Amino acid sequence: MVIFEKSSRGRMTGSQQAVVESGRMEIPGRFLRESAPLLPEVSELEAVRHFTRLSQRNFSVDTHFYPLGSCTMKYNPRVCHTLALLPGFSGRHPRAPASHGQGVMGLLFGLQEMLKEITGMAGVSLTPMAGAQGEWAGIAMIRSYHRERGDVARDEILVPNAAHGTNPATAAMCGFSVREIPTDGAGDVDLAALSGAVGPRTAGLMLTNPSTLGVFERRVAEIARIVHAAGGLLYYDGANLNAIAGRVRPGDMGFDAVHVNVHKTFATPHGGGGPGAGPVGVGERLLPYLPIPMVAREEEAGGERFRWLTEEERPRTIGRLSGFVGNVGVLLRAYGYLRMVGATGLLRVADYATLNANYLMARLQGAGFRVAFPERRATHEFIVSVKPEAEAYGVTALHFAKRLLDHGFYAPTIYFPQLVPECLLIEPTETESREDLDRFVAAMVAIREEAKSEPERVKSAPHRTPVGRLDEARAARQPDLVWKGPITSGQGGPVVFGQGPEVSGQGKVNGQPS
Ligand SMILES: *Cc1c(COP(=O)(O)O)cnc(C)c1O
Repeated sequence: MVIFEKSSRGRMTGSQQAVVESGRMEIPGRFLRESAPLLPEVSELEAVRHFTRLSQRNFSVDTHFYPLGSCTMKYNPRVCHTLALLPGFSGRHPRAPASHGQGVMGLLFGLQEMLKEITGMAGVSLTPMAGAQGEWAGIAMIRSYHRERGDVARDEILVPNAAHGTNPATAAMCGFSVREIPTDGAGDVDLAALSGAVGPRTAGLMLTNPSTLGVFERRVAEIARIVHAAGGLLYYDGANLNAIAGRVRPGDMGFDAVHVNVHKTFATPHGGGGPGAGPVGVGERLLPYLPIPMVAREEEAGGERFRWLTEEERPRTIGRLSGFVGNVGVLLRAYGYLRMVGATGLLRVADYATLNANYLMARLQGAGFRVAFPERRATHEFIVSVKPEAEAYGVTALHFAKRLLDHGFYAPTIYFPQLVPECLLIEPTETESREDLDRFVAAMVAIREEAKSEPERVKSAPHRTPVGRLDEARAARQPDLVWKGPITSGQGGPVVFGQGPEVSGQGKVNGQPS
């Protein structure tokens, strides 16, 4: 039921009522809309129940195990959220002068410094608002570097085929042509192919490490040497940092630029397309090109002072990537998380993320499932291929994923990476208990048993969710967001909004989101 169906004319919440009774809000008449908006009119309790019920129809980290590979859907401590919502932060005006923002600027400076330490880089800018935008910033800096040296023949970016899909997209968005490098049978970059591909056209290489195959590139130092020797620079996709944070640093591996998905690794969930942040770090060579603004600290008599670094002081910057500083709320959560876990806690995060993945992989393998790289240690995620089950019973990765929903598990990522047929990319994260991991194994085994005895039941899953099979492509391409049913609201409307002629309800509601 959409909320418009619950609407009843003149019904409203107590707080709306107070505004109505006090007369108009203090908005000049010329800014008020002329007709009442067509809004549902419900009581506060009805609104609360409606949205609470809707939220319960979905899966979330708060309610279910969510092993969505590549997304690091771990539990994010509430205290980080509480910190970011402190009124002094959430109520801050983005145009407030630096003299009024010393507190928040001090925290952002602290986050820059912590990320420098974690990535092993010489400088960090926090402004990219997603992992993909961090990648874009990194490759744009590499482009500036070559151009300023007059090295304009370098028009190719090398991307191993085990990279995340955003890597080739980023290179193309920056105007480079993409040259794919194959992966060898053990999941590492094919070094012979890499050596054959580098040359005077090589601007750089983008490496996702750990790769989307869930393994750590064993010859990463050799890769860096080959690319640098050919005059190219190295970009590190650090979105999978959860596996390695505190253990190894991209800077020490010889990389020139890296982005970090703080909305995976540091206290903001990734799924659902909410706000994120993809801070980018660079080595000495790329320092002048970092996107702005950044925060600088100065020692002053009696303490320290923070100020924004802008175009004037950073003339070679690639520029601005957002209207203001980026998604500060997400950055504050990351700051709180890092201060809370500390350096030793961060090691434990990476260790347990890796331990949980390897435990789950070993248990599934022990239960007879085919894992993609059995001879390799998993990082924070790993791949199961249900190709044998698909061949024997006609039950595919999609069917397993849908049936897992009935067992109370959000599904792993499926059919990604494309290098492995019928794959499930499983990332348990460090915040799951051993009991939950065991329950997941039991569910996978039960589904395989059912595939033998009653394959149709698996193929037609899910059976216990509020809705069954959805047409995802249609939902994305032709979303139906227009409420066309009868509407009882909008006629009187809360008087604060309505000034001009009244709207006659029915038939005029097109465009109202439901
Ligand atoms: C999630 C992810 C990205 C992209 O990050 P967004 O914030 O979604 O743009 C890039 N690379 C890898 C390996 C990822 O897992």
